[in-house]
Amino acid sequence: MTHHVFVLGEMKDGTVRSVSIEALAAARKIAGNHPVTGILFGEHANENSDIMIQHGADEVITADHQALRQYTTDGYSQALLQVLPDNQPIVLVIGHTAIGKDLSPRVAAKIGMGLITDIVSLEVVNGKPIFTRPIYAGKAFEKKTFKETSGLVTIRPNNVEPLPKDQSRHGKKSHVQVNIKDIRTVVKDVMKKAGGGTDLSEAKIIVAGGRGVKSAEGFKPLEELADVLGGAVGASRGACDAGYCDYALQIGQTGKVVTPDLYIAAGISGAIQHLAGMSHSRVIVAINKDPEAPIFDVADYKIVGDLFDVVPHITKHLKDDAS
Ligand code: FAD
Repeated sequence: MTHHVFVLGEMKDGTVRSVSIEALAAARKIAGNHPVTGILFGEHANENSDIMIQHGADEVITADHQALRQYTTDGYSQALLQVLPDNQPIVLVIGHTAIGKDLSPRVAAKIGMGLITDIVSLEVVNGKPIFTRPIYAGKAFEKKTFKETSGLVTIRPNNVEPLPKDQSRHGKKSHVQVNIKDIRTVVKDVMKKAGGGTDLSEAKIIVAGGRGVKSAEGFKPLEELADVLGGAVGASRGACDAGYCDYALQIGQTGKVVTPDLYIAAGISGAIQHLAGMSHSRVIVAINKDPEAPIFDVADYKIVGDLFDVVPHITKHLKDDAS
């Protein structure tokens, strides 16, 4: 089956997000010897073309327009539909991010192609891509493929190994004019959170706190540990509901789904709804006073103790080792 595979690259702070680099690796696998084309929109598109090529794209198409400076569903979907070829079998790969989740159903419906979301791995059998995605809040997995030749997939961050950067790779770059009209939503302002730091869904290391931290102040030791490790701070809904932290940090069924290399859960009981968002992390360390806490069932390293003793202890050791 012939697949020309396209990857919509997302940018954050003027540079390509790591999930888009992972999407390129997925695209390369699907495409085999067929071409992989990266697509970048916005004012920083041109300067990021080389990154896409060095990580697996054969060609990069860029477009800029006032309406593409900030993401809107209307703007991006119109631009994408003008950039993608008509009536040809294609696969489009997008990160399973806030943008990917919003854009993919619109584009799939407009083109009339299948959509498989939140894939965590893929294989190619007899030239046909087979995608694995979690179901039942991560308790089972299903394998899916497209009925038709064309399709759109979104890939979960931190699950597909990116291709190493190859600076010797060269590719074609083309800049296209797009015509965008009838934007029904206007982004008036974007307010960045103070100390927003690493995006939780892409973080390689997460230190998460639960109701066991007991107060907003109680998150301080976790923030210090996350700082030393170069990671991000997350939370259970229990901690968010108690007002100890912002809901933007919530991990779980109704929060963010994360798959970091290291997940440290401190003062989190391990309710099924929390596990749904983090149980596929590579290594899980749980710190809890209660030896019967269900979080220990999914933990690789189990520390029974008071998080206010254990967490500063780990931080101190890491700092000592570094100096
Ligand atoms: P608790 O269950 O109160 O656990 C606190 C833990 O801290 C305990 O295990 C205790 O032993 C330990 N502890 C206390 N003090 C210390 C200390 N000093 N040192 C070490 N350990 C200590 N929850 C989520 O997290 N994410 C979701 O997305 C989510 N979605 C939900 C959706 C629905 C529809 C529903 C019904 C619930 C959802 N929940 C979600 C809530 C979930 O059921 C739990 O209530 C919540 O995860 C509990 O948070 P917690 O573990 O922080 O609190």
